[in-house]
Amino acid sequence: MSFSGVVVAAGQGQRAGPGEPKAWRRLGARPLVRWSVEGLLSAGAREVVVVVAPNRLAHADEALFGLAGWTAVAGGKSRAESVQAGLAALTCGADEPVLIHDAARPFVARAHVDRLLAALAQADGAVPALPVADTLKRGDGVIAETVSRDQLWRAQTPQAFRLGRLMAAYLAWPTGAEPTDDAGVVERDGGRVAMVPGDPMLMKLTYPEDFLMAEQLARASRIMRTGFGVDAHRFGPGDAVWLGGVRIAHDRGLVGHSDADAGLHALTDAVLGAIAAGDIGQHFPPSDPRWKGASSDQFLTHAVSLVAAQGGRMISADLTLICERPKIGPHRDALRARIAELLGLPIDRVSVKATTTEGMGFTGREEGLMAQAVVNVDTPA
Ligand code: MG
Repeated sequence: MSFSGVVVAAGQGQRAGPGEPKAWRRLGARPLVRWSVEGLLSAGAREVVVVVAPNRLAHADEALFGLAGWTAVAGGKSRAESVQAGLAALTCGADEPVLIHDAARPFVARAHVDRLLAALAQADGAVPALPVADTLKRGDGVIAETVSRDQLWRAQTPQAFRLGRLMAAYLAWPTGAEPTDDAGVVERDGGRVAMVPGDPMLMKLTYPEDFLMAEQLARASRIMRTGFGVDAHRFGPGDAVWLGGVRIAHDRGLVGHSDADAGLHALTDAVLGAIAAGDIGQHFPPSDPRWKGASSDQFLTHAVSLVAAQGGRMISADLTLICERPKIGPHRDALRARIAELLGLPIDRVSVKATTTEGMGFTGREEGLMAQAVVNVDTPA
C-alpha cells in the first residue's frame, strides 16, 4: 500500500547532552535523521517530508544527500506546529496513509510499516506499542506507591493515520497545549487508534547512553556487500581514449556505443552487482539511441544513486586496467580523483591499478583493453 512519511527533526533533544541537536548527531557515520528517512523510503514511502528547525534547512540537504523522494520544510515552535507544517507539505490525498515518525528512532523497517498499514484499514490511527515490562513506581527519591502495569503500554513511532483525519484532529486540538504524540491528538478528537506490536528496535534515542547502545545495534543492522565488474572495448581510429572518466591522449580510440570507457563500465557493473541490481546493459541498453556517444559518468552516478536509494553507501573501489598502452601510471591520480568524485568517496578509498598481459591475448596484441573492478558497499542487512 502506498504511504507518505513525515519525519520530525525540529527538536533540540537537550536530554541527549551537549553538542549538536540530536537528529543531526552521527550514528554509524550517518546523521540520525538520515537513518529515519532512509528507513521510511526503503519501506516504500512515496514521499517523505522532513521537518527541521528553520536554521537547519541547509543541513538537511547535506545529511540527506543522494536520497530521492524527500523534501524538507521548516518546523514551528512546538512539535504540534512542526507536525502540521509537515502535513501541509505533503502532496498526497486526504485519504492516503501518512506515517509520522520521530527522527530519533533510527531503526524503522518495512515490517513495522506493514503492521501499521494493515491496522489502519480498520481504525483512525495505528501505533506500535510495547507492554511495560518493568515495575512502575511513583515517588520522588522515595517510593510513594507501586503503580499497576495492567493495560499500560509504551507508544512508539511511526504512527499511522489518514492525512485528512490527522489534519482535522490537529485543527480541533486546543491551541497552546502540547501533545506528546499524534495518537493523542486523534484520540482527543474521538478517533479510534489501534495498537500493533511494537519493537524494542524502535527505541527512541534520548540520553547519551542510548547512543552507545544504538552504535552497537547499528553495526549489527548493516552488512558489507562486494560487487565485481568486467568490461572490454576494442581499439579503433582516434586520438584519445576515455578511461575512468578521464580523457587520455593516445594514438587510437576505443569503439563503443557510449564513450567506451571500460573503466567506468566495469565500476558501474561492480556497483550494480553489490546491490544485485542487474547489469549496465539492463539499465542503459546499447540499443537505446539516448546512450549513443554518452559520457559514462552518468552510468556510474546512476548506479551509486541506486545504492543510496536502498539505504546503502559506497565504502571503497578498486579498479584494474589491463592494457599494453596507453600507460596508465602518469594518469593514475587523475583517474582516482575523478572516480572518487563520481562515487562520493574520499580519494584514499579509491584504488586504480594497471597491468599488461605481457603481449599475450587480445590486450597483448593491443586489439582492445579490459577493466576489472571490485567495490564494497555497506547496506541495511
Ligand atoms: Mg562497455
